[in-house]
Amino acid sequence: MSKKRILITGGAGFLGSHLCDRYVKEGYHVIAMDNLITGDLKNIEHLFKHPDFEFSHSDVSKFVYVPGKLDYILHFASPASPIDYLKIPIQTLKVGSLGTHNLLGLALAKKARILVASTSEVYGDPLVHPQVEEYYGNVDPVGPRGVYDEAKRFQEAMTMAYHTFHGLETRIIRIFNTYGPRMRLNDGRVLPAFIGQALRGEDLTVFGDGSQTRSFCYVDDLVEGIYRLLLSDYHLPVNIGNPDEITILQFAEEIVKLTGTTQKIIRKSLPVNDPKQRRPDITKAKSLLKWEPKVNRAEGLKITYDYFKSLPKEVLFDRDHKNFEQYIR
Ligand code: UDP
Repeated sequence: MSKKRILITGGAGFLGSHLCDRYVKEGYHVIAMDNLITGDLKNIEHLFKHPDFEFSHSDVSKFVYVPGKLDYILHFASPASPIDYLKIPIQTLKVGSLGTHNLLGLALAKKARILVASTSEVYGDPLVHPQVEEYYGNVDPVGPRGVYDEAKRFQEAMTMAYHTFHGLETRIIRIFNTYGPRMRLNDGRVLPAFIGQALRGEDLTVFGDGSQTRSFCYVDDLVEGIYRLLLSDYHLPVNIGNPDEITILQFAEEIVKLTGTTQKIIRKSLPVNDPKQRRPDITKAKSLLKWEPKVNRAEGLKITYDYFKSLPKEVLFDRDHKNFEQYIR
């Protein structure tokens, strides 16, 4: 029997590259697609020699072409940090909307099953806690996060429309904060920000009073959840995340301990619309997928810290080694 063929968009990114690893390991033929705006070929270069891996440098917001059959599509292409949304807001909107439309069309043409990466950001600054899939959210469409949140909400609506109108096999995952090796060091997200600051000997910047909460999931756990959801027969959104909730101030203290930095924790102003609390209700994932996270924060942080420590000095001190300008037309 011929191998199952899977297209992974955003394949050179943090999550996409881990998915490439997993599906190659599971014996699939993997086609990674990325425009490399926020992705990085370094994340997948170890796969280049693999006979069942190929890379396509293209922008799914414009057009998607994949020759041959396709069994599955994972749509993971998107900027995913608040700093990136500010720098490339229109690309963020386009990949969640036009990109998703193109991939749904491709899935239909190829009779492939598609799983789209949605996000806890669809809940906005949530008024229901912990967040259950039935909660509609509290999103400011014109705030700085609106470009991401609304693109992802549109993505879910479009995906459901393809499911109900065309009978397409669709899956929607709502991903909560996830961390691990291959996060971009300087994309502004809190974990690489704190670890980067500790490694450079800078103070750790807590935004606001640090009482806002997040719940951090280790990347391997997330990948397992995605793997199970894709093979399930459930088409409505499913939360995947680690419910172990922590304040950002406590998180900074954990990073101080982990890294042994002697720098201070300092306060900076809280970004607009920064969600005050976030924790997934994972009852659905537990019952439908028999999934729950396995890696605790101490273990996951240690692995992630070791990864960041191993990066070359120039990456550590490059404020943002991504040159967005060259991609923005
Ligand atoms: N944060 C912080 N210091 C930083 C970067 C982020 O205190 O240097 C806070 C941010 O305000 C938010 C939380 O950490 O409350 C998580 O931010 P991140 O950008 O990682 O993801 P979000 O969950 O907000 O999308």
